[in-house]
Amino acid sequence: MAQFQEAAIVLKSRPYREADSLITIFGKQHGKAGAIAKGVRKPKSKLQAGLYPLSYTVVELYQGRSSLLTVVGAELGQGFGRMRNNLESLSWGLFLADVVDTLWSEHDASTETFQWLMVGLDALNQGRAPATVGMTVAWRCLELAGYAPEWTWCVQCRQPIDNKGQVGLLLSQGEALCADCMRDRSSFKVSLGTLKTWRQWMHMDPSRVGSVEAHGRVHRELFELLDRYLVAQVGRRPRSLEFLESLSALQDGE
Ligand SMILES: [Zn+2]
Repeated sequence: MAQFQEAAIVLKSRPYREADSLITIFGKQHGKAGAIAKGVRKPKSKLQAGLYPLSYTVVELYQGRSSLLTVVGAELGQGFGRMRNNLESLSWGLFLADVVDTLWSEHDASTETFQWLMVGLDALNQGRAPATVGMTVAWRCLELAGYAPEWTWCVQCRQPIDNKGQVGLLLSQGEALCADCMRDRSSFKVSLGTLKTWRQWMHMDPSRVGSVEAHGRVHRELFELLDRYLVAQVGRRPRSLEFLESLSALQDGE
């Protein structure tokens, strides 16, 4: 039985019993963990301010006999208030929390995932292009969790993906087909421009996230690519993505 401190991002929170909440955090040292925050929904709770979803908080945790941790203290480090005031930025932030929650099991540590999540929330808070930030960070988190695709070479003829036409992506395998080979197999087709932007995102320095924005058809293809790849790889579509899709349809209609 021990008490320890952890710098963490709150991924989600749900009401539990009369005044408690069950929260899921992603900690810098220990990765994903579930914890109970007792009495947090009482008006005068000192824990409340630090435990809203998407907050960066230093939490004081107590590990008792049960597998569930207990939050005994929470000091808010960064609430990302500007992000919360913009529906699109907030929605992409919630999507990133959803992705990290889906990709990681409890107690699997990944300091880099924690750092990328911080990069994403910080960029959204600075007002950088929300969809570009969200998609870039989601891909980097997929890569860190071991879901990186190999889209440099054609899996059939072993030639590099060239400079003409389209590329066929095998989403479940994470492999690519060149324009010649994709005639014989069904695949998800994207333009080379889309793949080029995706590659830039995958190699981008964290400080520049959100600076290479996609528009029009490339943007739509990249959104669909992430959506289809996530479903093919993890077997479910995050609900936050459904919301982002309807949000994007609304914006297109404006
Ligand atoms: Zn080929």
